[in-house]
Amino acid sequence: MDKIDRFSRTAIDLVLGAGAVKAGIATTETLLGGPESTDLTYLMPEARSAVVFALPLDQAAIESFLKKEDMAAANRDNHRVNTMAAGVSLELSEYLNMKGFNSIPVIANAVYRKDVPGGAYSELPPLSHRYLAVRSGVGHFGLSGNVITREHGAAVILGSVVTAAVLNPTEPLPPDDNYCDNCKLCIKGCASGLMDDKNKTTVTIGGVEFSYAKRRAYTRCDYVCGGFTGLHSSGKWSTWSPARFPIPKNDDGFMDALMNAVEPYRKRPRQDFGCNIYHPLVPGNKLEFTCGHCQFICHPDKAVRARRYKMLKNSGVAIQEKDGRIRGVTPEEAERHLAAMDDETRALYE
Ligand code: SF4
Ligand code: SF4
Repeated sequence: MDKIDRFSRTAIDLVLGAGAVKAGIATTETLLGGPESTDLTYLMPEARSAVVFALPLDQAAIESFLKKEDMAAANRDNHRVNTMAAGVSLELSEYLNMKGFNSIPVIANAVYRKDVPGGAYSELPPLSHRYLAVRSGVGHFGLSGNVITREHGAAVILGSVVTAAVLNPTEPLPPDDNYCDNCKLCIKGCASGLMDDKNKTTVTIGGVEFSYAKRRAYTRCDYVCGGFTGLHSSGKWSTWSPARFPIPKNDDGFMDALMNAVEPYRKRPRQDFGCNIYHPLVPGNKLEFTCGHCQFICHPDKAVRARRYKMLKNSGVAIQEKDGRIRGVTPEEAERHLAAMDDETRALYE
């Protein structure tokens, strides 16, 4: 076995041994011609390869979250797995540094390029774990644009390490093995309308084409998944956000809607989940996960997907008690709850 083989195997072995369930390697060659966020040299001019991996989320926490039985467990799990991904990236990166290859850990989320128009608020990541993951065979793209895996569905957190080491690339998974059957439950479970129901985006990375639902303005997901609002247009169910500010139909309306919802967001009480999730772009910087439905519904088993979508639809709408606690109630009970508020309090929610 030559040195390249040895380091490639060790890199994969290290991340799998640290808790990753899938891992792959992309190189400057296999990423050639890909979108801007596949350029490894953005982070390090001498970069030659990237190791990308997936860590699983807790499936039990997902179901109690979708049923609006327990918001805290999925928040804690998401925080734990994101932190773990950062640790795995750092561990591999330092190992490769010690072996003489400059390497940089790239954490899973909440890091954005600052040298682009709009700065960090452009939300352009330094590196797209998603693109690297599909190109190196960690998973497929689902229609949602999330990376999906045969064992854990879309319920994975991705992390990467960029390195100057020349490593052996791994191949994309065969398209026929993709379990995504276009069920569209990810789209139905999204109150923001981020994913276009009809049109697709195709990207070519290293000569291989990948497709997923075209994404409308990312402000949609910021507004809804960010917790600023959450009531679905049917009025029958919501995310875990207790706010119900209008969700515009057109992309153009989202920035104003989001800006109007910032002050109420700041003023609403926060819950104590036993973990503090900080995000640099969130008002007040403390984040509560309120959605993630596109990720949580997408289980490899079609029957489980259908069950989860039903759980969400039957979960009711979120309301917030005076002590900050958020719970799911029927749409009618939510109306009564809001009607009983004084005007100033009610303005925090609608
Ligand atoms: S929910 Fe259905 S359509 Fe969406 S990515 Fe998963 S399998 Fe594909
Ligand atoms: S996280 Fe929520 S708001 Fe964002 S795209 Fe997924 S389902 Fe839609």
